[in-house]
Amino acid sequence: MKPNKADTLLLQTSTISPTLLRKLVLFAIICFSAIWFIDSYSGIIVSFDKFSYPICILAFICIYLLSITNKIQNSALLMWAYTVVAGFLISSSIWHHSLGQGLFLNSVQWLGLNYVMAYLFLEIKKAVPTTVAVFAVTVLGHFVVLIPNFPLSDTLGVVLNIAVAHIAYIVLLWTVVKLRVNNDKALQQVMEFENYANIDLLTHILNRRGIDKVITDLDLNSDRYQHSYSMLVIDIDHFKKINDQHGHLVGDQVLRQIASHLSRKIHPNDIVGRWGGEEFLVMTLTNDREKVRALAEFLRSTLSQIDTSPAIGITASIGIAYSDEGNTTNDVFNVADGNLYTAKHIGRNTIVDSNSAK
Ligand code: GH3
Ligand code: MG
Ligand code: MG
Repeated sequence: MKPNKADTLLLQTSTISPTLLRKLVLFAIICFSAIWFIDSYSGIIVSFDKFSYPICILAFICIYLLSITNKIQNSALLMWAYTVVAGFLISSSIWHHSLGQGLFLNSVQWLGLNYVMAYLFLEIKKAVPTTVAVFAVTVLGHFVVLIPNFPLSDTLGVVLNIAVAHIAYIVLLWTVVKLRVNNDKALQQVMEFENYANIDLLTHILNRRGIDKVITDLDLNSDRYQHSYSMLVIDIDHFKKINDQHGHLVGDQVLRQIASHLSRKIHPNDIVGRWGGEEFLVMTLTNDREKVRALAEFLRSTLSQIDTSPAIGITASIGIAYSDEGNTTNDVFNVADGNLYTAKHIGRNTIVDSNSAK
């Protein structure tokens, strides 16, 4: 089945990091060394393993060293490490079955690992052809070494038994991978929806929910002495008139222009959102009175320079509050809102904070 674009993206990203690769290779070195030592110590080591264990350990050491140099791609090293293990397991099983040593020997039980490892560690686009190749070599290899020593019916019995078990491995592992891809896609969609829920559809800046999320993420309500910030509540003057004179569509366009203007003019660390209607909130992470008032003045004066079509003279009133004026962000907002009310009251197109209000 050909994966779609989203699948491909997910499949490509499901590789392991160089650090994890090194840990796995180290683990393989320890396992092979331990088995080599135990088999040799207890005297049960067979001639095949006397050579294959040290060869595999040497190969893993080379892969480990190459990984440290960063000269070879991680995915290639991963494939080499896989080839060493899979090559060892297949050749070991085939060797044990050769020379008429037996029909169904212990080594065959380990072969399922080849499929598990492929789907666990390789990129899926590589895991699929690799498992097919591993399957073919395993089945054919066992057939070739069994047939000279056993009757056709016995050989077929063993080989078909291996084939069926291995097909079951491949199908089940592929199903697990598909489930994981579907799960990743669903998670991605949830994240997209969550993003949409925080963005105002008209102006494409944060909406009220988005602003609340930023406040939570910045932990502004945790300890008010640790966080300095200020809130600027910006309300467009006589916006109703703009709608009445030019229509709602022009009004919408003006709101979009104001939002984009505010986003461009503020510092990247500042936050802008649409609080509702023609009201915007700018949060800046300082409560230095002079700096904040200068920002408010800059925004107020540049808002009046926005080019609209048809030409509309936009003015805005701004209420400011500083983080030390309230215990919570809600308290601080209420102070800013009160100052905005004063700004409207004293004639609009002006800025008010608690000092100027007194
Ligand atoms: P003031 O100077 O006192 O703020 O006067 P105002 O007319 O701006 O204030 P008021 O709250 O009376 O009116 C706000 C207007 O904003 C009314 C509403 O139609 C308009 N408005 C709110 N949201 C939108 C919107 O999404 N699109 C458009 N076009 N207009 C909107
Ligand atoms: Mg208004
Ligand atoms: Mg308003």
